[in-house]
Amino acid sequence: KKEEVSAKEEKKPGFLGKLLQVEIKEKDVERALEDLEIELLEADVALEVVDELRESIKRKLVGRKVRIGTDKGKIIEGAVKEAVLEVLTPPKRIDLLEEIKKKGEKPYVIVFVGFNGSGKTTTIAKLAHWLKKNGLGVVIAASDTFRAGAIEQVEQHAKNVGVKVIKHSYGADPAAVAYDAIQHAKARGIDVVLVDTAGRNELNRNLMDEMKKIVRVTKPDLVVFVGDSLAGNSIIEQARQFNEAVRIDGVILTKLDADARGGAALSISHAIGAPILFVGVGQGYDDLRPFDEKWFVDLIFG
Ligand code: GDP
Repeated sequence: KKEEVSAKEEKKPGFLGKLLQVEIKEKDVERALEDLEIELLEADVALEVVDELRESIKRKLVGRKVRIGTDKGKIIEGAVKEAVLEVLTPPKRIDLLEEIKKKGEKPYVIVFVGFNGSGKTTTIAKLAHWLKKNGLGVVIAASDTFRAGAIEQVEQHAKNVGVKVIKHSYGADPAAVAYDAIQHAKARGIDVVLVDTAGRNELNRNLMDEMKKIVRVTKPDLVVFVGDSLAGNSIIEQARQFNEAVRIDGVILTKLDADARGGAALSISHAIGAPILFVGVGQGYDDLRPFDEKWFVDLIFG
């Protein structure tokens, strides 16, 4: 694609055309990149991602020949967007409805992991609502048996979106709750099981072991990391830790309505290479949007 663009630009200039060409110099790009770097860092994009973007943009631009009078700013802007899009484009795309259909056998199991307050429970309710709208049956496993109030909270959300919850009491084995929910779904031909797991304020040994056990017992089709886009730079470290404990297949970023700057999205895509499946854009059940890189790039560059 890159070649196509430059081929168009260069379009075999004749003798006169060649005279009218100028080359983009490193210093032109450097100057533009200085401002961009500051903006990216202010938007909480991790330093390592900023460095990668800078190199990628330079590679795209330095030495490129453009016609005199061409607006260099426009060309640089184009290269910046292209570089950002590359970071955001996952090596593998996941179309959730397609995956559920493809599996055939019911239920399709999704385990949600993430820190407390990241918006995990709300996101599960939003996704349940979205799946229902798409004609699928859903049951939620209240596998956060640790945090006081967690079970009532997930029950309230589930009631609001009209979905059943399978629960045990506090202190029960989260993997056993998830297992029961899967059996429940199997017996009734329910399409999808959403497993709400306990978050913590830090990823300690207990939590890791608990998550590993849930994954071992439920053999999920998808493990989703729910990350708060307001967590800024630290989201990279969170996602990496979870990814080491249990393989993360996809990401849902919440609170993007509060942070249209989008640093977290760039950082997380770079950190774990798993696709961003959805983004949360508000507190309502309809405020969940399938993620689209192009939409996102337009959003952050205004
Ligand atoms: P959990 O501890 O990870 O389960 O987090 P909750 O689901 O309880 O959410 C924590 C808070 O974040 C709640 O007040 C939610 O309404 C809010 N929240 C979740 N997702 C979003 C979102 O996409 N946008 C906004 N503005 N708020 C959100």
